[in-house]
Amino acid sequence: MGETRNLLERLRRLARNLYWTWNQEALEIFRELSPRGWQDLYHNAVAVLEDISEYELFVRLEDPFFAGRVRRVLNDFDAYMNRRETWGSHHAPELLERPVAYFSAEYGFHETLPIAAGGLGILAGDHARSASDLGLGLVGVSLFYREGYFHQAINRENWQTEYFVPLNPATLPLDPVVDGEGNRVVGEVEIGLGRVRFHAWRVNVGRCPVYLLDTNRPENEPLFRELTLHVYGGDSSTRIMQEVLLGIGGVRLLRALGITPSIYHMNEGHAAFLALELIREEVAAGRPFGEALERTKGRCVFTTHTPVEAGHDFFGTGLVKYALGQIQPQVLPDFGQFMGLGRVDPSDDGEPFCMTVLALKTSRAANAVSELHGRVSRRMWHRLYPEGTEEEVPIGHITNGIHLVGWMKGTVRSFWRHKLGDGWHRDVHSPEFWQRVLDPEFISDEEIWALRYRLRRALVEFVRRRSLFERLRASESGFYERLLDPDVLTIGFARRFAVYKRAPLVFEDYDTIVKLATDPRRPIQFIFSGKAHPADDEGKRRIQKIIHLAKYSELKGRIVFIENYDVHIARQMTSGCDVWMNTPRRPLEASGTSGQKIVANGGLNLSILDGWWREGYDGTNGFAIGEDDHPDSVMEQDRQDNAGLLRVLGEEVVSSFYDRDERGIPRDWIGRIRRSMATLLPRYTTWRMVQEYTRKYYLPGRAPAGGDSE
Ligand SMILES: *Cc1c(COP(=O)(O)O)cnc(C)c1O
Repeated sequence: MGETRNLLERLRRLARNLYWTWNQEALEIFRELSPRGWQDLYHNAVAVLEDISEYELFVRLEDPFFAGRVRRVLNDFDAYMNRRETWGSHHAPELLERPVAYFSAEYGFHETLPIAAGGLGILAGDHARSASDLGLGLVGVSLFYREGYFHQAINRENWQTEYFVPLNPATLPLDPVVDGEGNRVVGEVEIGLGRVRFHAWRVNVGRCPVYLLDTNRPENEPLFRELTLHVYGGDSSTRIMQEVLLGIGGVRLLRALGITPSIYHMNEGHAAFLALELIREEVAAGRPFGEALERTKGRCVFTTHTPVEAGHDFFGTGLVKYALGQIQPQVLPDFGQFMGLGRVDPSDDGEPFCMTVLALKTSRAANAVSELHGRVSRRMWHRLYPEGTEEEVPIGHITNGIHLVGWMKGTVRSFWRHKLGDGWHRDVHSPEFWQRVLDPEFISDEEIWALRYRLRRALVEFVRRRSLFERLRASESGFYERLLDPDVLTIGFARRFAVYKRAPLVFEDYDTIVKLATDPRRPIQFIFSGKAHPADDEGKRRIQKIIHLAKYSELKGRIVFIENYDVHIARQMTSGCDVWMNTPRRPLEASGTSGQKIVANGGLNLSILDGWWREGYDGTNGFAIGEDDHPDSVMEQDRQDNAGLLRVLGEEVVSSFYDRDERGIPRDWIGRIRRSMATLLPRYTTWRMVQEYTRKYYLPGRAPAGGDSE
């Protein structure tokens, strides 16, 4: 009895740590406890445990076989949490005492905590997950958006509409942040003319805590209570106030918790106000501004994520004056000089305040997220450093990655577990692990093909279920059984519907793609998903165009648009699709990461040579559209890329997939899968990326090179 109670307590603690999201055995325990609840509660382990009676949990845990499995999972979890010998303990021990504080306006961890708008947040989540795996001292800081990011529904005009669903912290893996006496820690930030009070929630990401600030407190004015309602909610005045809360409130929260970071990492310009608080502290301690700025720079690093102008925050003078009215005089009394911190030309009164400029001026090092993006960023910000050449602009690059095991579908994790036993994931980051995938003695073509079939079928069935549901909701009759075909080459495209990503590019030359996709011997099917920014009508028109094709064109039944893209849909699509199509207008895709997820599950990339794919593609491990170059004219670029895409699709992709030998196996295709995994998976992970950040940016000249596993 006592032991069962103890097991249950530990299980509840596990549910409140996102560790289970990348540990298959742990996830299976929660799913097995209530298979239907698992689905209905959208894979929320905390809610599933709440939904089952205490009595049932006791009875279930009295089953010796099940209890044995639970105990094994919990022991693994404890061992993970308590491990002393880690990469971090060897290469960055000082960060265990004084961690990196990673500030990001969004974090994407899991479908039950939808507080990310897109790739930036997912990257932050994966950064934290890998920091935990590496045993690196890192804490995250962000905001708790009570209604998260918007949900997407398509209306009868096939037009995107947006709605919000309130999150309930009580049934989410969120721990209230309390002091030693169990009282909530409450902080305060001056915003506008008021004082805004906030409390915080802690998300346990393995060993790394991520703190989410929340202004939903009864003593705040309604305007401020709603400040953390939506991700990037509302207009630029909400935005600047959210950023004041994140940067300044975030530093104050860390102080209140007794955490003294050695490094502050600004993930995108949204977080840059944190530097103002650090300067303010120095000035309050009696240092002149210049020295305060230098000392602040010594502790800050900055990552820029986009070459798209609209991706950088600009605030007008009046708004800055209002939002920071109380804080600015404590940082730098002269308002004009203060504005200069966010201007390329400090003397230009007409220039708005740019958060990227502030970040660059207040950090000791900055980086872009791929080699080409580094080049583009140096050109973009050359005017900030006019004394040197473009190459000398101090912005380097670290190419983005993904949390590898986190993005493997359960089927794939189980595949490796059956193949290699329980400890399979220990070596998953070593090049040798993936080198073995090249060996047909180790894995046969038949095994790989069967796995791919399982994944494709799971996706087709998922899409049919979802579409049925969407059509029922829209009261349209649907043909559940006719939609998609598990034998057909399946191409996926899922990402934000920003115009530069050119979602409908493949359909520009309609006759050609119809001919190609409806070839009865070698058909193609497409699955799309993604949200357009609520104010982006052009993006919404592109969604509408794809839905029109799906409903009314000759491609009906071969194109699907899945509503409400999120982490769960991303996991389904990046595991079940054979090909991941990416068609950004080069060089606007800073890195991209979804194509890395497909590799982890045995899919292949078909992409413009932009972002990470420009570095990853080697001629044998997937498919490239166009060259390592692009014309100046956008129209010409679109034309060339459409022609290039259709050519590669028709000449390379389709034949490689459908050319089967006498045993029915597409040998060429499977060879590409092997090379894709062997060449890309050791490199495009946050395991490698976080080590690179540590070596180059957190502890430059301190931690040695080399990607040794723990
Ligand atoms: C991986 C991921 C992204 C980022 O994809 P890109 O390739 O960078 O566009 C965005 N949203 C979700 C839900 C993801 O899982």
